[in-house]
Amino acid sequence: PVHATARHGATSAPARGFTEPAKKSLGQHFLVDRNIIGMIVQAVNPQPDDRLVEIGPGQGAITFPLLARHGRLTVIEFDRDLIFPLTEAAHAHGTLRVIHRDVLEVDFTALAQDEGHHADPRIRLVGNLPYNLSSPILFHALEHAAVIRDMVFMLQKEVVDRMAAGPGSKVYGRLSVMLQAYCHVTPLFDVPPGAFRPPPKVDSAVVRLVPRAAETIGIRDHALFARVVRDAFGQRRKTLRNALSQVCGSEAIEAAGVRPDARAEQLPVADFVRLANLLAEQRS
Ligand code: SAM
Repeated sequence: PVHATARHGATSAPARGFTEPAKKSLGQHFLVDRNIIGMIVQAVNPQPDDRLVEIGPGQGAITFPLLARHGRLTVIEFDRDLIFPLTEAAHAHGTLRVIHRDVLEVDFTALAQDEGHHADPRIRLVGNLPYNLSSPILFHALEHAAVIRDMVFMLQKEVVDRMAAGPGSKVYGRLSVMLQAYCHVTPLFDVPPGAFRPPPKVDSAVVRLVPRAAETIGIRDHALFARVVRDAFGQRRKTLRNALSQVCGSEAIEAAGVRPDARAEQLPVADFVRLANLLAEQRS
């Protein structure tokens, strides 16, 4: 992977036409480390019919190597000042589609339906995400999990650790349960602050998320499931009986095969699914 980018022409200087300083409010930390860029491209490993969508292309650190490799890409960027140089590059390459929008307002399901018929219409998301928005972007993607084949994201390492944690871990929480209920979560590699300009204050990590098939997720009522998980972890110190008192009684918890005096941080993902499904059944 270490040599992968040399061919793609990534450099440590911003691409021509990008003159704006990085904006803190938009979480802008531009990748400049060629090896890391190469490792991300390799992790994505685009195949001919893939429909790649990049979130936050910035100055194109990942965009242009991906384009060189794959030839076709849709990017979603919010910063007006970056749109012009990206659009110019789009003209040069012809196959770069630039969507100037807040990614949280982009309907991925509509986007997936947008571009004609494909053997597999699902999109593949890539992004070195703005860290101030990582959780909202992840939850937004989960809502559209059915049209997403996989995601390769750079995030704060601490967030990746939480996403991948199991019961009993100090960092096992709402993010772990929500992500793992819908996706296979595989941390790929860590990235030090020095790989970015300007360097962020924290370590970063790249993670792969592969949404599970709807049948294997098996959640009957998604809003109810999200509510159960949120309340259960709302007060970590509390027993489930107390934490979930607004949603159900301890009989329901027991009926789902879960001990009411257990705490959310000890409960495997499957138990949350079983409990939420039992409640959904009782309500229907
Ligand atoms: N991909 C580039 C790289 O690796 O160098 C830039 C990554 S930078 C961490 C995050 C990018 O997301 C910035 O370009 C920023 O302008 C963009 N961004 C921030 N908020 C956004 C939003 N709500 N919707 C779309 N893009 C956003």
